Amino acid sequence: FEQQLIKSRKMEAIGTLAGGIAHDFNNMLGVIMGHAELATMQITPSHPARHDLRQISEAAQRSADLTGQLLAFARRQPARPKVLDLNDTISGMLKMLRRLIGEDMDLSWMPGANLWAVKIDPAQIDQILTNLCVNARDAAVGVGKITIQTENVVVDEQHCATHAGCIQGRFAMLAVSDKGSGMDEATIENLFEPFFTTKEVGRGTGLGLATVYGIVRQNNGHISVQSEPGRGTTFRIYLPRTASPVQEEGEPERRAVARGT
Ligand code: ADP
Repeated sequence: FEQQLIKSRKMEAIGTLAGGIAHDFNNMLGVIMGHAELATMQITPSHPARHDLRQISEAAQRSADLTGQLLAFARRQPARPKVLDLNDTISGMLKMLRRLIGEDMDLSWMPGANLWAVKIDPAQIDQILTNLCVNARDAAVGVGKITIQTENVVVDEQHCATHAGCIQGRFAMLAVSDKGSGMDEATIENLFEPFFTTKEVGRGTGLGLATVYGIVRQNNGHISVQSEPGRGTTFRIYLPRTASPVQEEGEPERRAVARGT
């Protein structure tokens, strides 16, 4: 199944609401965790309350993970786009991604040659890859291989003649594939809806792909998904090519420094 996805207004409203709640809630969780830690320090190692305090800390940590996802979804941080070579950005994230998906699973990285530069906040690439890889890992437990690939893609009139909702242009494409469970049509239809999840309570928030979708739209890109039940899934993110040269680390800051009077 392949599908281009349509922007949903609902997502923005939910994002604003969820972001506001998550922000305040996060502060309160900080208080809870801080006090649990303080109390732990004041009792002996064998004190029976130690176990209860650990439970409090762990529950607060899980809640903080959730509010972290809500905040990412609501995009409370303003994006800081940079012109970058996706291959470099992704290469720098592989170690973290390997740790995330675990040792049992292979991660194969296939960078495309002479990839076009794109303009995006590298932290957003991090969020896209983290979410797609976590989903791939969860869908492919025990059938372990995830592939990350990049490639230049020209979408022209001819291509669009056979693809509904097609957007013409030149794109640096980033694909994440797994050979996991795949998805049925009903799942694909709801995939990018906030809070849609097929995972058990406490495991999935249903915010991962809604976040990815928001980021990609913010950067004038688009997403396609190809999936077959029992065979696996490929997500493709298309980010528009930018003509500007790739910025080196720290370059904008250097330029901004005023010298002398
Ligand atoms: P969550 O991961 O918290 O459930 P997401 O928005 O990231 O939320 O994903 C929504 C749902 O989409 C998942 O619960 C799962 O059913 C489905 N899904 C996403 N990625 C994949 C994948 N690679 N393979 C199979 N199903 C997937």
